[in-house]
Amino acid sequence: MPRTLVLKPGRERPLLQRHPWIFSGAIASLDEGAAEDDLVEVRSGDGSFLGKAYVNERSQIVGRVLCFEDLDVDSSFFASRIETALALREALPESSETTALRLINAEGDALPGLVVDRYGDFLVMQVLTLGMERRKHHLAALLLAQTNAKGIYERSDVEVRRKEGLTDTTGLLLGEAPPPLVEVLEHGRRFLIDVRGGHKTGFYIDQRENRRLVGQLAREKTVLNCFSYTGGFGLYAATAGAKHVVQLDASEPALEHALTQAAQNGVTDDMMEHACGDAFHVLRVFRDEGRSFDLIVMDPPKLAKSRASVDAALRGYKDLNLLALRLLTPGGHLATFSCSGAVTRDLFQKVVFGAAADARCDMQVLAHLSAGADHPVPLSFPEGTYLKGMLLRSLPTR
Ligand code: SAH
Repeated sequence: MPRTLVLKPGRERPLLQRHPWIFSGAIASLDEGAAEDDLVEVRSGDGSFLGKAYVNERSQIVGRVLCFEDLDVDSSFFASRIETALALREALPESSETTALRLINAEGDALPGLVVDRYGDFLVMQVLTLGMERRKHHLAALLLAQTNAKGIYERSDVEVRRKEGLTDTTGLLLGEAPPPLVEVLEHGRRFLIDVRGGHKTGFYIDQRENRRLVGQLAREKTVLNCFSYTGGFGLYAATAGAKHVVQLDASEPALEHALTQAAQNGVTDDMMEHACGDAFHVLRVFRDEGRSFDLIVMDPPKLAKSRASVDAALRGYKDLNLLALRLLTPGGHLATFSCSGAVTRDLFQKVVFGAAADARCDMQVLAHLSAGADHPVPLSFPEGTYLKGMLLRSLPTR
């Protein structure tokens, strides 16, 4: 007999709409079970079947639905989920000149709690929940077989694991260990990825399409890449014929890495300048020096870590965008982003609008930006959207 999780009356609606999370407050009863058995059938108060989920009673999100149909959650179930996810990526138009892609985007690929990124011949796995922690070796074996990757490295060093009662785990999971730097292509550009120590799983794969867009605008321009990390946006700009690129970041090692990567792509030292420091300060110095740029990228780290810090984050976003607008030449472009899940697109747009009003800039929205198609988000699961941005242009006549 499978264990059963019964929802309180009237709490079945999100599941009927295929939202995969079950919060503790929605649960009427949960059968006792053996410690190793975390799989449950989810039923509404009147007993009707809603799906199958794995559960972790230590988490606020007690259940995460694996399927809304009555399927056997076995090895072929997971193999089929992986196959579906891989097929989406294989169909992406940019696959041939790109060897860094997200292969599994957790809830977005109906595998809640599991993130897998591909860097050339190696996969990097990030396990976010106890349910996936229990299954990770099995999933790694399936992934290795289905992708022909040489090895799978684990980067489960993320804060959300605490909420699941888990500690950090990193290291080789299966197969061959990746080299210290894995070389990948992104739209034909060469990047060196530190899968052991780099941010996230080594790189901000989610910005790939936005980096390309910035490259397309950069010819003959002076470019400022704020919060450059290892210089992705700036590298696209420089290889696309920008006049001059400034990479700005607080991390000296990240900027060193940016220079190494630039050299690998034929970018000469005179084209690229790096500014190490706190962006909030350096942008003010640039303003006082009267510097200006035709194209500015503003991609700060997650300023709102939770809902409680949204107000402070909004002040940060406003300050940064105001500073950027004051450095922008008339007719210039600003690509501005927020990766805070707690800041909605609408709210972000309002904040940037406030900055433009204060700076007395007439700005046009040329595009709304998001993560690439290898980061799918279910329409039924808006929580999965975190990266949002806008491409803006200042009107040349003020
Ligand atoms: N745009 C990058 C990703 C940015 S990640 C890309 O496409 O790859 C955020 C970066 O902000 C990190 O490299 C971090 O070192 C830097 N950072 C964090 N706080 C900062 C600050 N106050 N000033 C400057 N850089 C900062």
